[in-house]
Order: sequence, then structure tokens, then C-alpha cells
Amino acid sequence: MDKTIRRYLDFITRNKTERECVRSIVRLCEEVGYKNLMSQDVLNPGDKVYADIYGKSVILFQIGTDPIDKGLNILGAHLDSPRLDFKMKPLYESKGIVYFNTHYYGGIKKYQWLSHPLAIHGSVFRKNGEEVRLAIGEDDDDYTFAISDILPHIAQEQMKKTASEFVDGEDLDLVIGLNETDEKDAGKKAILELLEKKYGIAEDDFLSADLEIVPAGKAKLLGLRGDMVFGYGQDDRVCAFTSLEAMLEQRADNLRTTCCILTDKEEVGSTGATGMNSLMLENVLSEVIERLGGYDGLTVRRALRNSYMLSSDVNSAYDPLNANLYDEDNSSKLGGGVVFNKYTGSRGKSGASDANPEFIALLRSTMDKAGVKFQMAEMAKVDVGGGGTIAKFAAFYGMQVIDAGVAVLSMHAPWEITSTSDVLSAKNCYKAFLAIEK
Ligand code: MN
Ligand code: MN
Repeated sequence: MDKTIRRYLDFITRNKTERECVRSIVRLCEEVGYKNLMSQDVLNPGDKVYADIYGKSVILFQIGTDPIDKGLNILGAHLDSPRLDFKMKPLYESKGIVYFNTHYYGGIKKYQWLSHPLAIHGSVFRKNGEEVRLAIGEDDDDYTFAISDILPHIAQEQMKKTASEFVDGEDLDLVIGLNETDEKDAGKKAILELLEKKYGIAEDDFLSADLEIVPAGKAKLLGLRGDMVFGYGQDDRVCAFTSLEAMLEQRADNLRTTCCILTDKEEVGSTGATGMNSLMLENVLSEVIERLGGYDGLTVRRALRNSYMLSSDVNSAYDPLNANLYDEDNSSKLGGGVVFNKYTGSRGKSGASDANPEFIALLRSTMDKAGVKFQMAEMAKVDVGGGGTIAKFAAFYGMQVIDAGVAVLSMHAPWEITSTSDVLSAKNCYKAFLAIEK
């Protein structure tokens, strides 16, 4: 197996939450000489630093030899993926079965989460601030979790429902134990005792927790020839991983400062302090500029405005079984190379970020020079719908930005499909982009 693909499978197998991703990314970049930005007083060309934002987003910089107000080459991908989050008071028992109550995150087809092996990943913070990290349900000898479904023989009413009504979000609750006694809530009590003993967690510690329920198991190659990847959270860890590797493997003496933003909250609109619709990038860049000779508001503005950015996010792959949804010529094929999407948004380009053709021309020549296979595509037919990415939050600063990522089949399903050759094309695309000099 190609070594990059091997590392990719390991990365998405081990890192199923944004916190797990950030911890791994910090470790990987420290191994090649990155330092925590806040621990550095002065920065010089060639220096490599990272900023950790609440353990859920991370921004990497490699300082170039050009003045920073000439702009940066920025890669931006997201680390969050659709899943089920714990509610704040998750634990309850009903008629002999003990459950964790959940609240889904991002765009999911709820029925896809029924009767499927699930794992619990995340962090619980005790009142004294101590963090307890959990990843339960991944080891072969571990137990698993699931959400139950109805037996077909008695599901006549359920089967008449539309897919969106098939199961209520409120009923997506995780089965975690039984009460086989006559004593009310004895199952819940037993679970609480186990949580206390095994993990040192009390029931009210769930009030301060980021716990996520994700598909259990390893990412694998798919197909008889192993030419695809089957894994959870490839939207958008396929672009996050390849952006990270491109960033870490770039030459040490780039003219332009390079940056890799790996952000949280894209799947819910990039909101919050760890999402791209915040001052996160501007704040961190201001800290960089302070260490390059002194903070100056105009330098921050110029650096952002003169930047190039690839919003490294996935595109919906053309699906022969649902061909009616796609304009074939303007759709992305699995194995067709990295996908550039001029405009995201939906229908009449509502909410779009529309890339400037001058910038696309620069990218076309850059990709051709580097021998990178690429395709230009939209998500689907015009009236079918669409979605947004972080591109518009970058465009807000006046920088040149376009979406560039990997085509994904069954996107947002618990397990998603990509092409191994597209993963490699994306990495090569990001490497060539980071090296752009003018
Ligand atoms: Mn995405
Ligand atoms: Mn998505």
C-alpha cells in the first residue's frame, strides 16, 4: 500500500473527533520542529509555529523570506464531522434498558445511525478542571454501542414514513446497558458505579463534557483492487490530513509565509470561537506579526488581503446510481483528481463564495507545471441544492480563495468513500499551492 494512504487510514482510524485530531497534529508538527507560537518571542524566516485554539482548531505557520504583508499561501480544512453528541444530562433508564441521550451534530440522515456499531470518544472535565479522555468501543476486545431499530415484521407504520421522519432525533439514543432486576433505576446506578470506578466520572461531570458518538472501527481500503478508502469523517479529514502533510513536507525556504488552518465547527456553519466565522485567524496572525517586528493593524489587513487560500474541502462525487442529481460534465468523478469548485452555495448561488477567474488561471498553471491531476466541478445540478464551506469567511478579508478538495461518495454517511489516487492528487495539489511565489 502507498505509504501516504497507509498513514491516512491510520490518521482517520485514530482521530475521530476534532480534539483527537488537534492533539495528533500538534504532536506530528512538534516532531518536525514546530513550536507553540505563544512560547516564542521573536519569529524569523524559516521558523515554524502553531497556535492551538481551545484544543479544537489549530493553525500552523512557516515564516517565508518575503515581508508578510505580501500575503500568505493558506490551506484551510475542517476537522469536525457529523456525529451524535451527548446531551448534558445524558444518562437515563427506561423499562429495563439504560441509554445515553444524544443531540446530533451536522447534516446526517438519522436512519443511517440505527443498528450500527458505535463508539464514544471525547473529554469530560471534572469540577476541578481535570480532563478525563475517553475512547470506548474501538478495541477488538472492547464492547460496542448501538442505537436500536424496529423489527421489519412490526414496522408497518415506520416503513410508511419518509426517510427524514423515519426516526426522531430525540430517539437517537445509545443503548449502554440493562436492568435485569425489579429495582427501578438499578441499571442506571450500576452504570454510574462503573463510570466512577473505571473512569472517575460522576453523573454531574457530564455537565462539562465534549463527548461524541462516532462509528466504531477502522478505516479500510475498499474494492477488490483496493482503489478506494472507506472510512468515517473523510469530510473533511481527507483534506485536513493531506493539507497537514503538504504543510509539513514543504521546503524550508519558501518566499511566501505559508499557513495551514485546521478548524472546527464547519459542519454547523463555522460558528463559535473555534470556527472560521470568528476572529480566530486574524487574532493568531496578529500574534505572528507582533513577533515579526511589531503588531501593526495595516500589516494584518494587507497580509490577509494579499493572501491566496485553498479552502480544502470535499466535493460530492458523481454517483452513477443517482445520475439524475448531477450535471455530468460539471460534476467530480471518483479518481478524476483533486476537485476545484469555483462556487459553492446552493441553487442561485445563495451563500456562495465565487472564486475570481484570475486566481483560477494561476492555479491552473501551477497544477499543470506540477503535473497534478485536477477537475473543475459543482456539487450537483443547479436546483438540487448545495452547501457552504469556510471559503466565504476567508473571502471576507479580501483574499483570493477557492474550494479545492477530494470527491466523496456517500458524503456525510457514517462511512464515506474516496479514491486513493484522489487523496494523493490532493496532497500534490496542496504542495504545489504552498510553493506559489508571486
Ligand atoms: Mn466539508
Ligand atoms: Mn460536510
